[in-house]
Amino acid sequence: MLELCMLASGSSGNAVYVATEKARILIDAGLSGKRLAKALAEIGADAAALDALLLSHDHLDHTCGASVLAKRYHLPVYATQPTWNAAGKQLDSLPTVLRHFFAAGDKIVFADLEVETFPVPHDAAGPVGFVLRQGDRAAALVTDLGCVTPYIMGCLQNLDGIVIEANHDEKMLFNGRYPWPLKKRISGKTGHLSNDMAAECLTKIISPRTKQVVLAHLSAENNLPSLALDTICSRLETAGITPGRQINVRVAARHEPSCRILFA
Ligand SMILES: [Zn+2]
Ligand SMILES: [Zn+2]
Repeated sequence: MLELCMLASGSSGNAVYVATEKARILIDAGLSGKRLAKALAEIGADAAALDALLLSHDHLDHTCGASVLAKRYHLPVYATQPTWNAAGKQLDSLPTVLRHFFAAGDKIVFADLEVETFPVPHDAAGPVGFVLRQGDRAAALVTDLGCVTPYIMGCLQNLDGIVIEANHDEKMLFNGRYPWPLKKRISGKTGHLSNDMAAECLTKIISPRTKQVVLAHLSAENNLPSLALDTICSRLETAGITPGRQINVRVAARHEPSCRILFA
């Protein structure tokens, strides 16, 4: 069994619960410790039963609750060295015993759950994406990246489930009220994926075994759930992939648990 559940998604906070028969982890902790524990309880999970917390990168929308949660539940925290360095005082108070390091490209094993990590281009220190495997089931979690490199494309093959960033609609971003430097940052090679870029990537990685796609980390300012869904589903249909029949495409909710995926 491989289960994923989005607890929150977007620039106001990100966290994903991942479970197998023998392992339970959290990826990112971008909500307060209290809200994370509450979101876990809402989906029938228990913060006290988590085996580990993995951090994708140091940005606050992925780390702000990490320290409180880890200390309260004595939770080992895994991050790359650059993430530990950049997170600074966010994670400074964590005792040494809870600090674990991995390098982008490493595989981390928690009982029957294998977590493959790979580097992503994003304006953070040492950011990573994840492929989660249990037995022959596999799902990827890739948000906060400015572009999909050929290397990432290679990591995202033969998946049952894909959680991918669909951050912004390019027209909404460029016609919107953000200042020019911020528009450039978001749309740049180390910013965030647009709906079109997510669609382009999906047309290349969806295989006959892919059943679930979750669109994540949508911008509140420069995207709409319906627009992301319409843009991406119509691109998939043009590519001969029929959402709804062969594949379930959903948008992760911003503030509450959503998009539970279960591969039994
Ligand atoms: Zn983020
Ligand atoms: Zn980020």
